[in-house]
Amino acid sequence: MGFATDCIHAGQEPDPTTGAIITPIYQTSTYVQQGIGEHKGYEYGRTHNLTRRALEKNLAALEAGSDAYCFASGLAATQAVLSLVRQGERVVVSDNVYGGTWRLFTKILSRYGILFDFIDASDATAFEAQAGDFALLWIETPTNPLMKVCDIAALAAVARKRGAVFVVDNTFMSPFFQRPLELGADIVVHSTTKFLNGHSDSIGGVAVVKHAAHADWLRYVQNAAGAILSPFDAWLVLRGTKTLALRMPRHEENGRLIAQFLRDQKKIARVYWPGFTDHPGHAIQKRQASGFGALISFDLGSREAANRVLRKLRLCSLGESLGGIETLISHPATMTHAGYSQAERDALGIGDGLIRISVGCEDAADLIADLAQGLAAV
Ligand code: PLP
Repeated sequence: MGFATDCIHAGQEPDPTTGAIITPIYQTSTYVQQGIGEHKGYEYGRTHNLTRRALEKNLAALEAGSDAYCFASGLAATQAVLSLVRQGERVVVSDNVYGGTWRLFTKILSRYGILFDFIDASDATAFEAQAGDFALLWIETPTNPLMKVCDIAALAAVARKRGAVFVVDNTFMSPFFQRPLELGADIVVHSTTKFLNGHSDSIGGVAVVKHAAHADWLRYVQNAAGAILSPFDAWLVLRGTKTLALRMPRHEENGRLIAQFLRDQKKIARVYWPGFTDHPGHAIQKRQASGFGALISFDLGSREAANRVLRKLRLCSLGESLGGIETLISHPATMTHAGYSQAERDALGIGDGLIRISVGCEDAADLIADLAQGLAAV
């Protein structure tokens, strides 16, 4: 089936009892058993839930995986995947990942004796020379918030040589634009909170796997650690993915117009968007993805200038998150990357004047008019 068909149908059949075309919300904590060990394959809500399972099958199809496991948030999915690593093993992470991922790795999982190193992975050859041995490689591409592009196939080869697990957080692109498992990744993680749900009304996460051993372990962890996605959130995301193939081209088209508008503004020192032909990762992005996405960062030089513009915007809402149908704008230094110290942010190039915009599906002319009146404040 084609991608749009899978978005609408994969994992879902009409309800066997009523014929309802939409998968019901199985809002139950347990299932009645007829006798000891006599049940219909469903025992307890943490272990089995058909709404969640429908979403998992849907997302496995969209990412070309063998299976998928949904969790209570993107970070809960991240934590579950990291349970593949044992004490004393080393995890290498592309630099400037989502600040919450960095915080989970450096402030919590490091306490369990897992070793983390953050390395620029945008040049795969330089990365390999620096990376040493590792048990797991974790990347985002494009990275958050500086939009560095990492070559998924080349990094998969580096991980394979070491027998390491290769994980790609594909939240920014969604499977509509980029399917890392087809390029050699072993596991794809998403914050379903973002483009997959697309309507800013649910928090969730998923790990999509390729190998049976990873599926077995994540199914076990999902039940044994218990950070499951709720039936209602699963239903919301299932509803969201039905329109993914309609929303993403619109996000991208608006993104392209806004990136160009921002680049034409003399007040803006730099615009980060992989769609520009002179972006260092442009050729790789074109090769490994079918689009450039709707995330754009731009630098206004100082926190004061950024705040003046952010306070003036009316249509572009200031808030943490991305991937909703509404345009959201954020200030990485005090929001997504607030967990980093000032020195760490400076080293990465995440300045106090940096703004990240997640372009929504409104009329582009209205968004541009709003940005223009906001930028008039500096
Ligand atoms: N990965 C990326 C790229 C993100 O931007 C985020 C959240 O912003 C997460 C993971 C974490 O997802 P959640 O907020 O659903 O825990």
